[in-house]
Amino acid sequence: MDSLPLSASLLWSAVFCLLLAAGLLTRLWLAGRQMRHVAQHRAAVPAAFAERIGLAAHQKAADYTIAKTRLGLLEGSLGAAILIGWTLLGGLHALNQALTLWLGPGLVQQLALLAAFMAIGALLELPLSWYRSFRLEQHYGFNRLTPRLWLADGLKGVLIGAALGLPLAALLLWLMDRAGSTWWLWTWGVWMGFNLLLLLLYPTLIAPLFNRFEPLQDPALKTRIEALLTRCGFQAKGLFVMDGSKRSAHANAYFTGFGPAKRVVFFDTLLQQLAPGEIDAVLAHELGHFKRRHILQRLALLAGLSLAAFALLGWLAQQLWFYTGLGVIPSLTQPNSALALILFLSVLPLLGFFVTPLLSAWSRRHEFEADAFAAEHADRRDLASALLKLYQDNASTLTPDPLYVRFYYSHPPAGQRLERLAP
Ligand SMILES: [Zn+2]
Repeated sequence: MDSLPLSASLLWSAVFCLLLAAGLLTRLWLAGRQMRHVAQHRAAVPAAFAERIGLAAHQKAADYTIAKTRLGLLEGSLGAAILIGWTLLGGLHALNQALTLWLGPGLVQQLALLAAFMAIGALLELPLSWYRSFRLEQHYGFNRLTPRLWLADGLKGVLIGAALGLPLAALLLWLMDRAGSTWWLWTWGVWMGFNLLLLLLYPTLIAPLFNRFEPLQDPALKTRIEALLTRCGFQAKGLFVMDGSKRSAHANAYFTGFGPAKRVVFFDTLLQQLAPGEIDAVLAHELGHFKRRHILQRLALLAGLSLAAFALLGWLAQQLWFYTGLGVIPSLTQPNSALALILFLSVLPLLGFFVTPLLSAWSRRHEFEADAFAAEHADRRDLASALLKLYQDNASTLTPDPLYVRFYYSHPPAGQRLERLAP
């Protein structure tokens, strides 16, 4: 081997380590700021909320926020260690060699490599998932999962993932090997088609495997909500109540599907916690996302970003240094599509992390727009009181670190939203 690929490979290893370290240090720094800021404001409820929020609730939110941030740090550090294990320490290379010995080269081996990589990753995440539900959420009174349901959810997830993911992966790998130099364009088309299909199938086929959906019964509430929908010029196939309380005390409402398959879903926990006017206001906020075309904009962004990603993958998959720099020796005679895909999907989040603040800012702007829409079409005082109840019931802190908010928060903190809703 001449010296050029070797130096390119070393350079790429160095860039990879640098990105990993920079990401980890940034996470550490931001989490430290957030935990300090919340702890410093733990002793007293902020003046603006003093009349409406008790000290005990404020302190619970502070403790919950700190515990969640700490767990997030642990997850991030563990993820980085696992990534180094797969790449520079040779885990992926060893797995690839073993599967090639067993199955011989070909599409089956590539599919097995992808499946084994995903399965091992999921197994490694199990202990923290358990800890999150049965220690953290349990401690703050949010967990409603039983170990049995947790296990059943996990098994269902694996089966559905395999049923949908394996055919998709086989098609992608086949296209990568056979579709010529523009394969990345074809795979992008398949990927977008799969995402749209999932949007269409999720509400009616997949979600009911995990939860029960019943038509909204309460006639008074139903009339009220239908009036709101008509007022906003919105057509939905149905109003449903989901047994969210089966898993968690956190409350929510959402829209799913598109075109004629649209439906409105309320968590039963939301209906228990909010008064009818407040439910109206929360629904109006969700309608705002739809009417202001936020959902369409998100889809367009997904399409653009994934096209760029597939084009980048198309180029990287051809570069020897892309593999060797990450601890893998590719086959020189057989396609390396599965390896390329796995390495790319492992490295992409390192870059994505630094885009987080842009996406968060965009999302927060959408939240303000949806709030403004709700204030127009429902009662703004109802929205304000509903938001405060939801922030309190979810133990969201009222005093986050401003920089942490800018980087991560997809929703503006309660203070900012209520300020804009004040008459
Ligand atoms: Zn929203």
